[in-house]
Amino acid sequence: MEKCMKKCISCNGSLHELMKIENMPASAQDIPHKGELYKDVGIEVVLCVCEDCNLVQLKNDAVHYYRDVIRAGGYSTTMEELRKSEYGHFIELASLKGKKIIEVGCGRGEFLGMLKGFPVEGYGTEHKKELVELAKSAGLRVDEDFPESEDHIFKDGPFDAFMSFNFLEHQPHPRTYLKAIYNNLVEGGYGLITVPSFEYILKQNSFYEIIPDHIAYYSFDSLTHLLNISGFEVIESKTVNRDTIEMIVKKRKLPDVGGIILRKTDIANEVLDTVKSYSKIAVWGASHQGFTLCSTTGIAKYVDCIIDSAPFKQGKFAPASHIGIISPDEARKRKLEAIIIVAPGYTNEIANIIKTTFDSDIDIYTLMTDKLKRL
Ligand SMILES: [Zn+2]
Repeated sequence: MEKCMKKCISCNGSLHELMKIENMPASAQDIPHKGELYKDVGIEVVLCVCEDCNLVQLKNDAVHYYRDVIRAGGYSTTMEELRKSEYGHFIELASLKGKKIIEVGCGRGEFLGMLKGFPVEGYGTEHKKELVELAKSAGLRVDEDFPESEDHIFKDGPFDAFMSFNFLEHQPHPRTYLKAIYNNLVEGGYGLITVPSFEYILKQNSFYEIIPDHIAYYSFDSLTHLLNISGFEVIESKTVNRDTIEMIVKKRKLPDVGGIILRKTDIANEVLDTVKSYSKIAVWGASHQGFTLCSTTGIAKYVDCIIDSAPFKQGKFAPASHIGIISPDEARKRKLEAIIIVAPGYTNEIANIIKTTFDSDIDIYTLMTDKLKRL
């Protein structure tokens, strides 16, 4: 396999060439008149795969009209039935009754119009002016717009959910498109996405499904990866209409560190009170846990020393708190009243060393959870 210079449009990974097809139509849209035939020539299309995220994609540039949504299948009854059943399920699953949904790339509103009759507020964006006008004249709330950057702001936002039907495979910057949508969704917002399935093309061995208009050929895995690195988790995924991948996604929650913040002060106070109640106390464990505890809780001036069995740490000082690090042998000579073990992986082993080789009246504490425990 040959390496391409171009990088993956999803994850910026390295691309490998898979195959070339010569004399392909340059686009599926610009169908020439007789007088234009002299300037219409076939092009070479190069299919590549990203070695990092496995997304199959063209090395070729995107067609010039990739921002426009040009659909032919909008009025088929098969499509109408599919969309309506998807809408019903999506609205139910994501509790979208009375909420705002935006279709980003809605064409003349073929699919947006099918939301009528559902208890939601539908909005759409479309790049091509003529299509926006057609959508508006059909009574739809469609804005002439396209997200060129992640911090793009859509009119009438934020939205509770978004929809994107067979548009992502045209996008040369799919992560920008998805991040812009992410930034216009409420916390916990949902999305409904469809793309043509690459698994289907592989199964049918159908080279004729490849067209320059589709710069990306998503599989379940590569689409999930793109959605994940754009801030979404996939809630549901399936194949619909034989050849299409459908996914329902949700904006990923940021981790809740409220508990850590809350307990930080409590742990510090508890440790400080304990340390102050002894005239000679040591911390056992010259690792990151012990260092952080000593430097961030204000106990440094009350701690006699840090004990550690590793010779290369002995004789040095704890970063930030500057408490001296000594060997267990040295510590035995210090007449310690208490030791706090801060080495979660080795607590039992250390406790055993203290019990069997130190003065028997030494009080032993451990910090393994969010509480100081006396052994
Ligand atoms: Zn990639």
